[in-house]
Formats: sequence, structure tokens, C-alpha cells
Amino acid sequence: MKRIFENGHIVLPDGVKKDARLITEGERILEPAFRSELPEGEVIDLRGGWLLPGFIDFHLHGGGGADFMDGSVEAFQKACMTHCAHGTTALCPTTVACSNEELFSLFDVCRQAKDTGADILGLHMEGPYISQEFKGAQTPQFVRSPDAREVDEILERADGLIVRWSSAPELPGMKEMTKKLRKQGILCAVAHSAAICEEVQEAFGWGFTHITHMYSSCTTVLKRNQRVHAGVIEAAYLLDDMTVELIGDGRHVPKELMQVVVKLKGPDKVALITDSMRAAGSDVTESFLGNPADGNRVIIEDGVAKLPDRSFYAGSIATTDHVFRNAVVEYGFPPEIVSQMMSLTPARILGRDQEMGSLAAGKRADLVVMDRDFRVQKVYVRGKKVFDAGTSAR
Ligand SMILES: [Zn+2]
Repeated sequence: MKRIFENGHIVLPDGVKKDARLITEGERILEPAFRSELPEGEVIDLRGGWLLPGFIDFHLHGGGGADFMDGSVEAFQKACMTHCAHGTTALCPTTVACSNEELFSLFDVCRQAKDTGADILGLHMEGPYISQEFKGAQTPQFVRSPDAREVDEILERADGLIVRWSSAPELPGMKEMTKKLRKQGILCAVAHSAAICEEVQEAFGWGFTHITHMYSSCTTVLKRNQRVHAGVIEAAYLLDDMTVELIGDGRHVPKELMQVVVKLKGPDKVALITDSMRAAGSDVTESFLGNPADGNRVIIEDGVAKLPDRSFYAGSIATTDHVFRNAVVEYGFPPEIVSQMMSLTPARILGRDQEMGSLAAGKRADLVVMDRDFRVQKVYVRGKKVFDAGTSAR
């Protein structure tokens, strides 16, 4: 069946068009058209709102009260469906440092998770091979350096499930590990790292081509043995082909900082992510970072999770529609630029831009319909309507 979207702002790869129609058939986008002749099909009136490519979030930990690390199919479904109802059409469930037993059972759960609304593109491993000093909220007892045999076992058990891996490149054994990951096409990202600029530049040569949540848990100008060094941040700017991601919740990265990054790197190198924890998409005032245990209790206020003593942020609770609205309405970026940073850029970073990430003929009909105030009205994944504000509950 054909669908014709019209009467709104359509965000095409070459800009926002108000007089265009977008036609889809089955799972695919047929054509963005300016034709006066209408094909047979269901007409979707955008009512002056917006039609965008679905958001691709390749760094998130949970939502709707569930964390991917809860280790159940239900938790996967809950988190994915929650984000899907906010405009995410494809995502990468993200791990934290944990025991191998926990990790391997997570692989099984991920394989079993079906009917998740948003498409699972593969797992994002955040850790366990990260810096103790920059571990952030990760559990210290599981943070470690890579062991060649362990890496082999993880890769074997994952059997193609891992699509990106965030690590600290300065750790011993990382060069060898990077070689193995790149051979499997896994995106290698610098994260929770104490590296100086030269170490990141060297690691870029091995295949570390992306920076995980830039400006969170990484180095900038620092001193080692009285000598001043540039850090991870400066390496991101120096290396033209290094891509980066920013937490777009409007709390972790202030407006001016996002402006600097986008100005220096360009929207084709910057992805906006949620990095959201389990409280995303729910209206609780208390939650847990990771396992629901007493020591992991956090409070939710001002649109962010905080440690109970309010000394630190403990995670984002953003959904992608919030990230989009924040960047457009609060930070003043043009909608088409924000759309690029939330769809085409992450798709390209993952090597999936031939099939998704923009409203181009032949690509998957992964679509978000928003009203004039950028509130999500409808979400389609592979041409199937998975959310409708008129009929579904979030
Ligand atoms: Zn994370």
C-alpha cells in the first residue's frame, strides 16, 4: 500500500520542503515528489507539522523504567517501545562494565527480543575496558584492561551482535583488541579515557574513529609530570575524520559548547544521543542507575538524574524528541541540521546510511511525524505504524 505524506515541512536531504509530498510503499520510501498527480493510497495530512527521518540513537541504557542490563526480554521491549514512542526508530542497547556471566546472558536476551518497535541495530559495549580515573558511574570492580583471551571469548559469544565498542585507548592491549574489532566491522570509540592527545591520535591510526559522549568523562588540557598536554577533546578537533557524539539532553552539554562542537566539526561529524538511563520517558522522581539496589538510588529533578546528595549528574533521562526540541527550540539550531545529527550522521557512523537516516528513495520508511511544536504524533518503522499519539499511550 502507498502512503502519501503532505501539507507540512518535509525534511529532505537537501533541505526542508513545504510544497513536497513524500510517498512510501510497504517498507520503503518510494520518492520525495513535487508531483501534482496523486497516486492511490492513504493520505497523511501533516497539518503544517513536520515529517522527519526516524531518530537513530546509538547510545542509550534504558527507558520506561527498564534498563537493558536488567537482563530480560521484557526490559528490552519496555525500553525500546518507550523510546520508539518518542521518535527513535533504530537504536543500540548499551551495556556497562559487568561480569561476563551477565554479559553473555545479555547476548541471549538481545537475540530473543522481538516486537520492540524501534529496530535494534546491535549492541553498544560501553566498557569494561575503560579508565578507573574516568569511569564515571560505572562499577569499579568490573572496570579493567583488555585481556586477549577474554576479548576473543566475548566476540565469539556475541557472534556479530556487537556493532560498537567504547573503550579507553591508553590501556595496555588496546591496539591488539582494536585490530580484532575492526576486522569484524565494529566501530571503536574513545570513552571514559585518561588519554592525552598523542595517544588518541595514535589510536585513530589503529581504528578508533569516534568519541563517545564528548565532554563527559574524558580529558582536555592536563598536566602530566609538570608538562602540559592536550587531551581527548583536542584530538577530536585535530583529527578531521574523527566523529563525535554529544548527550543532547540540554543538561550535560550547554548551548555554547554544542555550538562550538558543531561549528568546528560540522553536522556530518556530530551525532546527538540520549545516553538515557531507565527513568527516561517516565515521570518518576526517584530511580536507580543500573541495578535496582539501594546504593544505586538516584533522584530525578530538573530533567536529569542526580546523585542523592546532588553532587553529580547520574545520567540523562532524555528521549530523542526531547533532544530534537532542545537543540532546535532552546539552542537555536536549524531543524534540518538537528535532523541530520540525529539520523543521517549516526547512520553513516554505523555504516548503515545506505538503508536509513534520510528521506531518500529506496531507504527504509522509518519516519517521525511531529506537530508544529515538535511533539511526536506518529512513528513508522519499516513502513509500519508503531506509534500514534491519537490512539496509543506512551
Ligand atoms: Zn552511556
